[in-house]
Amino acid sequence: MKLRTNSPRWFNDDNSDKEAKCTSFPGTRDYDPWFGTADATQAEDAQEMEEAKAICHGSADGRQCPLLAQCLEFALINNERFGVWGGTTPEERRQIRKVRREGKACREAGDQDQSSRAA
Ligand code: SF4
Repeated sequence: MKLRTNSPRWFNDDNSDKEAKCTSFPGTRDYDPWFGTADATQAEDAQEMEEAKAICHGSADGRQCPLLAQCLEFALINNERFGVWGGTTPEERRQIRKVRREGKACREAGDQDQSSRAA
């Protein structure tokens, strides 16, 4: 898949406080809250994703990931269909994209309406 935007700087050798928090919580074969664990049930997957989101948003430890907004935008622009990105599940990103599409359509309709009134 061709990326349409550069990825955020996940690692930061100069300042670990600016680094993606998930780099400290890598998934394993038996536990991967970011992309799901093999053989996990749907309920277990959902629970794991909530745990990943808590890390992103900082509700687990009081520190939000410094890349939260960039990570979410990266996932939205690149249509990441799997895993937790920017503190969102795939379904939540689908909703955000839908709202943005609808907002864009409304703005375009509003622009056309204004143009026709001005003419
Ligand atoms: S927002 Fe979440 S998924 Fe994105 S870089 Fe930060 S910890 Fe990782």
